[in-house]
Amino acid sequence: MDILAHGLWAGLGVSALARRRPVARRMAVATVVMALLPDLVHMLPVLAWVLGGDGAVAELWRYAIALPGQEPGMPPWVGAAAHHLHCILHSGVLALIVTAALWRWRASLGLPLAGWWSHILIDVLTHSSDYYASPVLYPLTYEGFDGMAWNTPWFMAANYLALAICAYALWRRP
Ligand SMILES: [Zn+2]
Repeated sequence: MDILAHGLWAGLGVSALARRRPVARRMAVATVVMALLPDLVHMLPVLAWVLGGDGAVAELWRYAIALPGQEPGMPPWVGAAAHHLHCILHSGVLALIVTAALWRWRASLGLPLAGWWSHILIDVLTHSSDYYASPVLYPLTYEGFDGMAWNTPWFMAANYLALAICAYALWRRP
């Protein structure tokens, strides 16, 4: 799913939860940030390459909106680092390990972790074999589920309509 919608769904989820029990502001912010990070962190190597002066600023934008096979030409280290960072943060396997490790140490991190999980689970369903299938089982395999690509125009419209309806329902509820 697109990054804006990830943030909006996480924000709506936190808002709905905050109607039922107190949610600290920093936890709410951390949850939304964790829902955004998987689509931001893998751009850091590309950003480093651009800031290093070897890549044009336009390449960062081209990378962010690329379709499969149309990514900008980048040095191998940039491509490999971006690829693996993307896989790491979209991996349910690694998220499970991190969740199990942190849960024992600090269960209060459950909400931010839920933000991360929301990104992973939504992406499994909203990417397809033709459109960057989400590597949910990385590092076991790069294979992903053949879902509905989020950039399909009617799906994007339906997604934002659903967001608007949920936001309205939340706002209306006393
Ligand atoms: Zn993603």
